Amino acid sequence: MRAEGETGFRDSVDLMFARAAARLDLAPGLAAKIRVCNATYTVRFGVRLRGEIHTFTGYRSVHSEHMEPVKGGIRFALSVNQDEVEALAALMTYKCALVETPFGGSKGGLCIDPRAWEEHELEQITRRFAYELIKRDLIHPAQNVPAPDMGTGEREMAWIADQYARMNTTDINARACVTGKPPHAGGIQGRVEATGRGVQFALREFFRHPEDAARAGLSGGLEGKRVIVQGLGNVGFHAAKFLSEEDGARIVAVIERDGAVANPAGLDIVALRAWMDAHGGRVEGFAGASFTAEGERMLEAECDILIPAAQEGVIHRGNAGAIRAPLILEAANGPLTFAADEMLRAKGCVIIPDLYANAGGVTVSYFEWVKNLSHIRFGRMQRRAEEARSQILVAELERLSADKGLGWTLSADFKERFLTGSDELALVRSGLDDTMRGAHQAMRALWHAAAGVEDLRMAAYMVAIGRVAQSYRSKGL
Ligand code: GLU
Repeated sequence: MRAEGETGFRDSVDLMFARAAARLDLAPGLAAKIRVCNATYTVRFGVRLRGEIHTFTGYRSVHSEHMEPVKGGIRFALSVNQDEVEALAALMTYKCALVETPFGGSKGGLCIDPRAWEEHELEQITRRFAYELIKRDLIHPAQNVPAPDMGTGEREMAWIADQYARMNTTDINARACVTGKPPHAGGIQGRVEATGRGVQFALREFFRHPEDAARAGLSGGLEGKRVIVQGLGNVGFHAAKFLSEEDGARIVAVIERDGAVANPAGLDIVALRAWMDAHGGRVEGFAGASFTAEGERMLEAECDILIPAAQEGVIHRGNAGAIRAPLILEAANGPLTFAADEMLRAKGCVIIPDLYANAGGVTVSYFEWVKNLSHIRFGRMQRRAEEARSQILVAELERLSADKGLGWTLSADFKERFLTGSDELALVRSGLDDTMRGAHQAMRALWHAAAGVEDLRMAAYMVAIGRVAQSYRSKGL
């Protein structure tokens, strides 16, 4: 529940923007131009279902067209409203600028409970919404490229891509009209895991710099760190899975709709997800964990890293004071209100901000869009050539060893890994890792070097706003 006097999501984003913009030397009026949302299109359309016409309301907001296409997901939820869509579109502008994906910011939403409809009904509704946006160029490979968000996934993106192709039969780049498609419909390997993978890469990079970790009172690496994850959807699940399976972090609690499960020794995330799938999304009853119906209270439990990965505004004026985590990574968009952000900063909590922390999704969307425009999968030309060159080296080493009687043997594991050329998934992960490292370094350079840049969010906004301002300048504005 939002506490008395709490700022809404859009105001929170605008206030966070203003804090950073005030520190930049921008031309008069430029900050306001960058901040405002350029346009929001609202559509109400009817679909005949179950013997009657149902009217749905949808939005597509274009926050900034300093680069085109504009980019951002489409959310299906009952809570969707214009303010929320505009806040999310603004975050997309800053996110894309920060991780250097060449897009402006956009976002879409449809007021719907996707669980209330059968698959074929949802397809009809999605296609009709897409039709309304396509005919106004609000879905278009060169102008506006949606992607999945809460309540949507590969299936919906495939319907949208197909709808666009039906309406634009001669557009050779039709598949680039939307990202997050399944691989068989022009998608890319690693898009589903991308946001969670990006969270993992962000945390790895954070802990690579002991001075950064020290600001949160932490030391060492991710091994053994106690993590609480709120929301085990696509983002939370992949982040928790990778951090626990590959980095030795302990997921000590997971908060979900019906409550929270906890285990100080660490939860088995794959098993928990399987339990939820079999029990209508509920975590209660999961073996090997204690359960509390008061999920929200678990946000306040002791841990090293708190990862809100669900909705906006979950940490607010009312509970920020009780949060004990020294490090918060915002895997969701806008999980902290402006007031919560201030309160937590005042306590010394380090916050890895949403516009950076969850940028893995749009980064891999960018790779997918490039793949669609180039009409060839990554690695197709180079992979075997790379393997052949590695093979030459291995053969030469083995020949030298035999000729000189050195007795060297290359381990089977080394040979296997060295001789395997990079496929699309490996290249996508490499590109994502590079992007997350690069953006962190841009943020931390300001955070550490510039006096008055108190936190990573301010640094992230400053980098993003600076880049958007630069592109405005080159447009002569
Ligand atoms: N909806 C995701 C986000 O908030 C992904 C956007 C995209 O891939 O375009 O970043």
